[in-house]
Amino acid sequence: MSILADEAHAVDLGLRWAPGFSALGPEFFSEVEPRPLPDPYWVGRSLAMARELGLDPAWLDSAEGLAVFTGNLPIAGTRPTASVYSGHQFGVWAGQLGDGRALSLGTTAGGLEIQLKGAGPTPYSRMADGRAVLRSSIREFLCSEAMHGLGIPTTRALCVTGSDARVRRETFESAAVVTRVAPSFVRFGHFEHFAAAQRDDELRALADFVIDRFYPECRGGERFGGNAYAALLEAVSERTARLLAQWQAVGFCHGVMNTDNMSILGLTIDYGPFQFLDGFDPRHICNHSDASGRYAFNQQPNVAYWNLYCLAQALLPLIGEQELAVAALESYKTVFPDAFEARMRDKLGLAEGAPGDRALLEGVLKLLAQEKVDYTIFWRRLSDMVAGGDPQAVRDLFIDRGGIDGWLAGYAERRATIPVAEVAALMVKSNPKFVLRNHLGQEAIEAAEQKDFSGVATLLALLETPFEDHPGHDAFAGFPPDWASTIEISCSS
Ligand code: AMP
Ligand code: MG
Repeated sequence: MSILADEAHAVDLGLRWAPGFSALGPEFFSEVEPRPLPDPYWVGRSLAMARELGLDPAWLDSAEGLAVFTGNLPIAGTRPTASVYSGHQFGVWAGQLGDGRALSLGTTAGGLEIQLKGAGPTPYSRMADGRAVLRSSIREFLCSEAMHGLGIPTTRALCVTGSDARVRRETFESAAVVTRVAPSFVRFGHFEHFAAAQRDDELRALADFVIDRFYPECRGGERFGGNAYAALLEAVSERTARLLAQWQAVGFCHGVMNTDNMSILGLTIDYGPFQFLDGFDPRHICNHSDASGRYAFNQQPNVAYWNLYCLAQALLPLIGEQELAVAALESYKTVFPDAFEARMRDKLGLAEGAPGDRALLEGVLKLLAQEKVDYTIFWRRLSDMVAGGDPQAVRDLFIDRGGIDGWLAGYAERRATIPVAEVAALMVKSNPKFVLRNHLGQEAIEAAEQKDFSGVATLLALLETPFEDHPGHDAFAGFPPDWASTIEISCSS
């Protein structure tokens, strides 16, 4: 008898479970048992996430917690499932994909779904091993919590566990399991899956599930003549637009914006070869496997729209009329630029818009791009300058002193009528001091591979509150070392 079928071993997490995605029925998922990993150990834990789930932190510290979140012990009251979805990868229809290495443990009564990523194969693993490696699991764990700390919608992460079991990638690496948490992991690809198979009943059930749980305002309104599915498409387009505005403003490059990696809730999901920009290069490609630059930093807003178009196609059988679907997508074209400008104005400390703001913003982005000035450091130094610091620290970032002096003069004029304290207060909470740069992650990973997990804990603490100063940790807010540009991160993880 398998250990998971053995109810006697099942652990009571002290949480109440509610029917979540699994309420949709067996057409949408398969029940799958995690495959245990030998001798697991803790790599990282987010106590903030534990508290939100209502888990006792002391229990999370225990050997039982370790076993549960490695997939080595079953949980009482729920059954693990893997869901089926399809999607477009790099612009091409890829057919059926699905949770190849993610298992949903269940949804809490508080509405949070808990997944294990890397706990073994599922019916959707397609010849792959269902595992995740330590390096990419640490990256997903830290970046999930970092995005949350930045105020950017994201799936969260509770913990990472590791095992010395070997996993084969380009070389052999150690296995790990990330526990991630979100109100839902439904992707655009879930809709594409049932649309492609012309299974309209399932398509409708899925859309109704998403509307009822997450977009109830889409029902019963007057918009689109009361067409709830068109209203859903519009609401998802708007959330996605606002998400992309936040990515672009903070300098986040996702790296694999396939439609199966797009959350129906507008969350950042599936952390793979992502990167926070070091020097500002709008054409930066962070995914080593993306030879054509389809997912380059400055392409992301367009790709999101392309992906929404795929979602629109999938929802068309429910929406009925093509014109309604087209109209629902339109919102993206205004919400994205408006939201982006608003986020960038926040970075400039300008709460209210004024004519000329776009030119001011374009001016500074052009200067940053010309010299590939460090994006995060520039904005933080600009905040410090406004708060009373030395403007020389900003000027020092540029070789073209005339260019930045001219821009700074225009900026000073623009904010002259606003109290300095107001501008500075907005800037300091809009320009993070700490982001998960590739080299910081890499250093924590290399230490973790030697069983030193202190770097993961330190980074987590900084990234949870990235706008705070954290005295004594300035090294984590400095320029990347030369070797940072040689880090290659691909889809393989
Ligand atoms: P990704 O590029 O990480 O979003 O993955 C795309 C698809 O490949 C999804 O269906 C994943 O579940 C699946 N996949 C990726 N890596 C593995 C793996 N090691 N084992 C099983 N499935 C995987
Ligand atoms: Mg994925």
